[in-house]
This record gives sequence, C-alpha cells and structure tokens, in this order.
Amino acid sequence: MKPVRQQVLGVRCWVLGVGCILGFMFISGCDNSPRLYKESRVMMGTFVEVISPEEKAAGIAFGEIKRIEDLLSKYNQASEVSKLNSAGQLKVSRETYYIIVRSKEFWALSNGAFDITVGPLVELWGFRDKKYYLPLKAEIAQTLKMVGTDKIILNPADNLVKFAVPGMQIDLGAIAKGYAVGCAVRKLRENAIKSCLINAGGQIYCLGSKSGKPWVVAIADPGKKGISGKLRLINKAVSTSGDYEQFFIKDGTRYGHIFDPRTGMPANSGLASVTVVADDSLVADALTTAIFVLGEEKGKSLAEKFPGVKIKIIKERNG
Ligand code: AMP
Ligand code: MG
Repeated sequence: MKPVRQQVLGVRCWVLGVGCILGFMFISGCDNSPRLYKESRVMMGTFVEVISPEEKAAGIAFGEIKRIEDLLSKYNQASEVSKLNSAGQLKVSRETYYIIVRSKEFWALSNGAFDITVGPLVELWGFRDKKYYLPLKAEIAQTLKMVGTDKIILNPADNLVKFAVPGMQIDLGAIAKGYAVGCAVRKLRENAIKSCLINAGGQIYCLGSKSGKPWVVAIADPGKKGISGKLRLINKAVSTSGDYEQFFIKDGTRYGHIFDPRTGMPANSGLASVTVVADDSLVADALTTAIFVLGEEKGKSLAEKFPGVKIKIIKERNG
C-alpha cells in the first residue's frame, strides 16, 4: 500500500457502477502532518475506507469487517442472516444473536420506527436489487403481515432465532456497518493502533487523533454540492442516514430506501439527513436510521435517552 499525503479527500464511491457522494468528506488538519496510508475496499455492499499513519491498520480493520460481513450480510448466501432468512429459524452465533437483541432494543425504544424485519418491504419496493417498483396498497398491506420485530422469537438458552410468520426476513443494513466498525476499532486498539479513521459507507469512527489534532469530518449537504458543517472528533463514532443516495423518483415523487415499518412506505418525516455523533458506532448507526423515520421532535426525544449523543438534522428543502 502506498503512503499518501492527505490534502482534501472528497469521498465518493462508485459501487456497482452507481456513483454516490457519501455523507461525509475528510479534510486534513495541516500541511506538515505525517504521511497517512489510505486503503479502500468494497465490503458490506458499500465502500470502506481506512486512513492511518500505521501501514498495518487497514489490513486489521478489513479483516474484522470481513468477519462480520460473513455473519450478517444479506448479499452473502452463506451468511447466518441469509440462512436464517431462508429457513425461518436458525441457531445463530453469539454475535448474530447479540445484534438481533440490540436491534430489538432499538425497536422498543423507537416505538417500532427502527425495525430489522423490513426485509420484505425492501424487496417489494425493489431496493434489494435496484429494480425499483411502486407497489399497490394491497401489496404493501400483504407485505406488512411479515413485518414486525415482535414476530421474532428469541431463545437465549441456545441462541435460536425463529420467525413467527413465514416469509419474514431480517435486514441488518441499518446497524451492521456500525457494529462492524466498532469491532474493527476494538481490534485496532488490541493491536496498539492509536490513530485511524474508518469510513464504512457513512459509518465513521475516528480513533485517536490525527497528528495530535482531531480528525475533521465534513457533513455533506444533501441539497447542495458542498458541506453543511464540520466535526472535529477524537475517539468518536459518526453516522449519517438520509434518502439522498438511494432513492427513485416516480411521477414526481421521491421514494427512499429507509422505510416506516408502521406504514410500509418510505419514511416521510420531512428530514433530508440525520447525523449522530456517539461513543459507540452501533448506537450511532441505529439511531440515525431511527431518527430519520421518527422525524425531528420524536427523534430528538429518542436521542436524549443516550447520554453524550449529539445529533444534527438537515430538513427537507422545498423545491
Ligand atoms: P442506514 O443507511 O443505516 O439508515 O440504513 C438503511 C438500511 O436499513 C436500508 O437500506 C434497509 O436495508 C434498512 N432499513 C430500512 N428501513 C429501516 C427501518 N425502519 N429500520 C431498520 N432498518 C431499516
Ligand atoms: Mg443506520
């Protein structure tokens, strides 16, 4: 891997031929910083980037993210999540069980706005394979019968996860990247890496500082080409959710990839993007999605339940 001197890194990803600007950009602190190593890979259905003054950091982070991807990815037929989705029940590993339990907690705290059983909705609307489709009301009603975290039956004695209704599918897209980044950070710390920035498709962790100064993360403005603010972070996770990257427009209406599980429709709470800064990467990831569905007022009340969490909301623009 070649060392690079960072100036301004506009983070763009080109996955499956589709270009998208991620929610963040990184900006270097000053000109006399030491060299940084930067490496990128497509993992967990997104673009993962690792930046560190330590050459071995990227290999450690990617190794850990790959391990989590192998457990949780809906795109990998051999993953535990895929096996659970096709069989309707499975004795899963301790880690997969833990993620499902944490997801259930966020479902309860968000009054059902955060719900990993949105899988059948994601598929119905064509977001799984990007063959977008505007479903009929009856199709949505039918699909909603398979949605609801209350229909996941958990047995902690043997980590058995069981779906109460045939056809249910879990989709950990709103929490798995945050968990994976958190695991990667733990591994980096175990390996005495003190400075590293990981960005997994908008799930960022700033480990330590960058040459003694905070990492600077810029929040992209969903409405304009540019940034809406900068965050200076040390040992913090930051996550953004929005519908400005994955969406389709039909008859002048925009339909995004984050669903309101209570209606079966793409969330329409008047927000363009939500950014959360937290100590824990999993919390940041799950909260941004939940707040995006809940909207500003209820979203802020949810965030208040997590001490130390900061949120930034960008509202929908008119026109
Ligand atoms: P994020 O980018 O973290 O907000 O996650 C969005 C992804 O999570 C979507 O692409 C879906 O796979 C999944 N998802 C959509 N709506 C929800 C929801 N209400 N709760 C949990 N996961 C969702
Ligand atoms: Mg999320």
